[in-house]
Amino acid sequence: MNKQELWDKFGKTFRDYDLESGAYKAPGRVNLIGEHTDYNDGFVMPMAIEKEITMLAQLRPDKKIKFYSLDYDQLVEYDLENLEYDEENVWANYLMGVIDEIQKLGESLQGFNLMFTGNVPQGSGLSSSAALEVVTALAVTDLHKIKIDGVEMALLAQRAENNFVGVQCGIMDQYISRLGKKDHALLIDCRTNDYELVPFKNENYQIVICNSKVERGLVDSEYNQRRSECNQAVEFFAEKEDGNITALRDVELETVIKYKNQLAENVYKRAHHVVSENERVLASKKALEADDMQKFGDLMYASHKSLSEDYEVSCKELDILVNLAAEEGVEGARMTGAGFGGCTVNLVKKAKVDDFVKNIKEKYKAETGIEAEVYVSNPGDGARKL
Ligand code: ADP
Ligand code: MG
Repeated sequence: MNKQELWDKFGKTFRDYDLESGAYKAPGRVNLIGEHTDYNDGFVMPMAIEKEITMLAQLRPDKKIKFYSLDYDQLVEYDLENLEYDEENVWANYLMGVIDEIQKLGESLQGFNLMFTGNVPQGSGLSSSAALEVVTALAVTDLHKIKIDGVEMALLAQRAENNFVGVQCGIMDQYISRLGKKDHALLIDCRTNDYELVPFKNENYQIVICNSKVERGLVDSEYNQRRSECNQAVEFFAEKEDGNITALRDVELETVIKYKNQLAENVYKRAHHVVSENERVLASKKALEADDMQKFGDLMYASHKSLSEDYEVSCKELDILVNLAAEEGVEGARMTGAGFGGCTVNLVKKAKVDDFVKNIKEKYKAETGIEAEVYVSNPGDGARKL
């Protein structure tokens, strides 16, 4: 639906109150490099994708809030003064969570209607949830003329997911959805929450995302185990080397290697991944700034190897997708997201994209029996008012 058709639908769904209204967009994202570094106070470098959620919004003269999900064809209504988790319409909690956090700032809201639709694949690790939170935050604050900068809005959207939805995500997804910029990746320092746009505009390359279609199973228990192994490594290095070490961010790769024989094998491997991955993110930033796509691609392959062999969060299907990409001769490929399923991200010469997409789908199907989904995207813009 184009913008006019969306407004027509909005008009048919809600009464027009002749009050403040607007249309907004926020994108999903893919993490280009920097995996399992966020909770180690390290670096990540995602980009916004050209898949987005679009939201239309208008104030109401009362205290009611109504949300209409076009994709689910569901209309729900809540009371601003009594927001509670909705077990039935789970999607509505992402919106309520944001509104709850805005009210916690001490803002007094009036009622409003929201209608939205999106094409960010859901539950595939491309962060449709952050897109939904960020677009809601932008819409509701803009309607009420609440002043809030990009970083504050991203953090508010993150708190919505943490507190209301109950998912303990880091800052990456909401940051990139809010602060992303066309032709740029975003380097984020997960210790200080500082960020920096990194140019990514080589016209000869494209980012291609392959969805393995494998459900991300195991994630919770394995994730907790990795976190605990990282903590063990931090305690070890703090004791042996420097009491000021509070996260793997503070450890040099040399140091990790020096203590290889004194660490439990898994603890060594986890530390080796995190510390080398942080180096790869910073090297990737330099490679992109120098427009050295070959180098950036090599770092992506190295990241995958480290995630697969040292951090052990890949799976057969993700490894197959990366191996097939290598066989196709693409510049870079790696699993992206927490692992055990989800997507790979590939750096592909534009002239080869069509062949790559066709071949990888065919070969993946032949090896696994699964139909992969493939999305081609340049780095897109972050959230904005239309
Ligand atoms: P991811 O963020 O990786 O896509 P999540 O499980 O965190 O996966 O978030 C997906 C959830 O976000 C969906 O189950 C749904 O509740 C909500 N959501 C995302 N996009 C939409 C949409 N277009 N319409 C309605 N709900 C959506
Ligand atoms: Mg999510």
